[in-house]
Parts: sequence; C-alpha cells; structure tokens
Amino acid sequence: MLVILSGVAGAGKDTIKKEIIKRMENVKSIPSLTTRTPREGDIPGKTYIFLTKEEFEEKIKNDEIYEYDIHHNNYYGTSKKILNEASKNGIIIKDIDVNGTESLKNTLKDIKIVTIFLRVPKEELRHRLENRVDKPSEGEIILRLNRFDYEESKIGIYDYVLKNDDLEKTVSIIQKIIEEESKLDK
Ligand code: 5GP
Repeated sequence: MLVILSGVAGAGKDTIKKEIIKRMENVKSIPSLTTRTPREGDIPGKTYIFLTKEEFEEKIKNDEIYEYDIHHNNYYGTSKKILNEASKNGIIIKDIDVNGTESLKNTLKDIKIVTIFLRVPKEELRHRLENRVDKPSEGEIILRLNRFDYEESKIGIYDYVLKNDDLEKTVSIIQKIIEEESKLDK
C-alpha cells in the first residue's frame, strides 16, 4: 500500500511523515528522485536521490519513472524500481504533489493508494515558510505561495482532506487511517 501525503510546502508533510514512521513499524518512506540541490537536513539516498538534469531526463526516456513533475525549475519523480521493491514488504508513505498524485492514481494498478491532503490557511503558511530551518529566500516563498491556490483547487481527487492545525491530532488521525485502510488491503 502507498500512502500519499500532499499539501503545499510548509503544510507539515515532512514532520508528519517522520512521526508516522517513528510510530508505525510497518510504514517506511522511499526517496524521490530530484534535480534540486540538497538542503540542510537532506540525506542523499534517503530523503532524495539527487540527479543531474541529464541523468533525470535519461530515466524519463528509459521509462524508469512512474510520474514526474517540475517544481521551482527542478524535476521531482518516483522511481518505478524503488517503489516496486519497497511495496513488496510494507506500507510506504510518500510526499508527492497534486500532479504526481493524479498521475500515480492513473498509472499504478497493482498497488493500493491512499491519498491524504493536508490543508493549512494561506496566512499561516507564509509564517511557517519564513520560519523554516532551511530558510527559503523571499523569491522562493512567493513561488510557493503562488502554488497554494493551484494545489487547493485539486483537493477533490483526495480520499482524505485534513486541516493540520494540531500536529499530535493530525498524526493520530493519519495513523488510524493507515491502520484501517491496510486492513481493507488484505
Ligand atoms: P521540496 O523541494 O520542498 O522537498 O519539495 C518540493 C515539492 O516536490 C513538494 O511539493 C513535494 O511534494 C514534491 N515532490 C517530492 N517528491 C516528489 C515526487 O516523487 N513526485 C512529484 N511529482 N513531486 C514530488
């Protein structure tokens, strides 16, 4: 089973993903492929697999990617090999944007997908972005806020839409969702 967490940058996806992995031993994450430069806190091969633009385009050409998208001028995508291998033994939780989620829902036929969208008020989002440890630039903050309306317009494709205003509450709801959905996947 693949659990997809979406929501604009700053919605708390990363923190929630880490908490869920800590609390549920059968849930793990897989790295996405990306061409962006590593940020503080990134662990190459674990948070992301960092590729050059040429390497990424080669993988697209060779049909090694389930879905990909371009954000802030960088490629992001899901490796077929990594997802197929990992889904054989356990539940995967992955942070993917709305376009990637839409593509995966159309292309992944053998793996159950549960999609969760995390909402956050726009004004609170700016505040969270400004206070991130990786300190995005003003330009980057504006780019991410512009993305907000687009992502919000796509929430209809999600199985669950949650407002993340209390981390503990959100994590325990997601934990319950995963437990219940995995029972249905038996
Ligand atoms: P960041 O650079 O802040 O880590 O991620 C930027 C955006 O890329 C986020 O919205 C995240 O959900 C998205 N993203 C991460 N991995 C993937 C992926 O494998 N596929 C797609 N389509 N988007 C991804």
